[in-house]
Amino acid sequence: MNYKTNIDYRKETLTKLLNNVIIHESEIVQALYDDFKKPAFEAVLTETSYVISELKDTIKNIERWAKPKKVFPSILNFPSTDYLYKEPYGKVLIIAPWNYPYQLALCPLVSAVAAGNQVVLKPSELTPKTSAIIAKIIASTFNVNHVEVIEGGAETSQNLLSQRWDYIFFTGSVAVGKIVAKAAAINLTPITLELGGKNPCIVDETANLKLAAKRIVWGKFMNAGQTCIAPDYILIQKDVKNKFVTHLKDEITAAYGPKPEESTDFARIVNSRNWSRLVSMIEPEKVIFGGQTDSENCYISPTLIDESNLDSLIMKGEIFGPLLPILTYDSEADLHVIISKYEKPLSLYVFTKNNSFAKKIIETYSFGGGCINDTLVHFSNKRLPFGGVGHSGIGAYHGRLSFDVFSHSKGIVKKANWLDLTMRYAPYKDKLTTIKKLLKWM
Ligand code: NAD
Repeated sequence: MNYKTNIDYRKETLTKLLNNVIIHESEIVQALYDDFKKPAFEAVLTETSYVISELKDTIKNIERWAKPKKVFPSILNFPSTDYLYKEPYGKVLIIAPWNYPYQLALCPLVSAVAAGNQVVLKPSELTPKTSAIIAKIIASTFNVNHVEVIEGGAETSQNLLSQRWDYIFFTGSVAVGKIVAKAAAINLTPITLELGGKNPCIVDETANLKLAAKRIVWGKFMNAGQTCIAPDYILIQKDVKNKFVTHLKDEITAAYGPKPEESTDFARIVNSRNWSRLVSMIEPEKVIFGGQTDSENCYISPTLIDESNLDSLIMKGEIFGPLLPILTYDSEADLHVIISKYEKPLSLYVFTKNNSFAKKIIETYSFGGGCINDTLVHFSNKRLPFGGVGHSGIGAYHGRLSFDVFSHSKGIVKKANWLDLTMRYAPYKDKLTTIKKLLKWM
């Protein structure tokens, strides 16, 4: 089977995959719950329905995306017709993380297949139930030489990285991203790195504080804070801090009740190693809300932390859990000192009614993407690129861009023979003035 050129085959297998993911939807939701008690609502919203929508959109558009496209020719080549061909890279390796273990494995896979590649997917070992279902679905959909799932941990991943690939798509931590980039460099393999960072969330004195608190609580504590684009820390204008903290507390209680450990809408930390890492960040005297932990169930309650020390453990790196440090600022200069201390984040959020302040923040800082007056939702628009910059990642995907990520764009000029202008050919004598004029005119 020639996966490379056969669009019908790609479409057929993606349709088969769509049917299989629909059939297995409740099993996937259950696996996500078994892995870290991901609430069913969040599993459907952020994982299964997202994959289904990605598949439908891809199947609908694949022919249009894959078709060679005519582009406007250069007058220098007159007479010609110019084309852009989308060529599959060949063998693609996809390495996925555990926090959205289904969606972040399947979505790149769908696009890699649509673009005509052979794919090996390595899901995360930290969510074994989900990994097993993914392996089952893929094995029952694809020929093993076309798409294969190889389960395992870091060692398996490194074995795969030691082989030669035509493209590597990695989602995970900055530290492992560097390992992937090093491995890819040996064969100059092109890569996408979807990494993380310390995402600031700025709230100024003009913001609708109650609504801001509600949207921040939603974005921060979904998936128990284990979201790469979750707000990492709050920067609140100091005059409105107390009022805002009251709203945050109210919104946490409204979402998860007085006992979040009993709420079916709040996930658990993925394993005890991550639980211990997060618990070590909690300094009890700084906790202004929450702070309850339970090692047996890998539980940490939604926690607000009054923070002013940028050298504290919680302000060192990405938190990736339900701990929300709250820092105050007085001036834009204060904001600059704090935000600039960290590498370019994956996302940034600003809550304000002051449009020029929002514009200034967006234009001043470099970050992957973000929102004004909301959190996370930029992820859901397929027309927006999703990816980081600097340490938060290389490359971006989603929607049509995902198809392009897994395709090499080949530029072709088809020259006509009915005319052959002699200007470009040697001998060049007496042609320099004319070519200069012509080039100036271009
Ligand atoms: P991770 O880097 O620990 O693991 C990701 C993948 O790499 C897993 O499949 C794992 O098996 C593999 N891996 C682990 N150690 C390895 C090693 N030494 N060599 C080779 N492969 C190795 O990340 P994680 O804990 O699964 O996910 C959390 C991180 O991912 C966070 O930093 C988060 O911000 C980031 N993330 C980013 C995005 C994004 O879209 N940008 C999405 C989700 C998560």
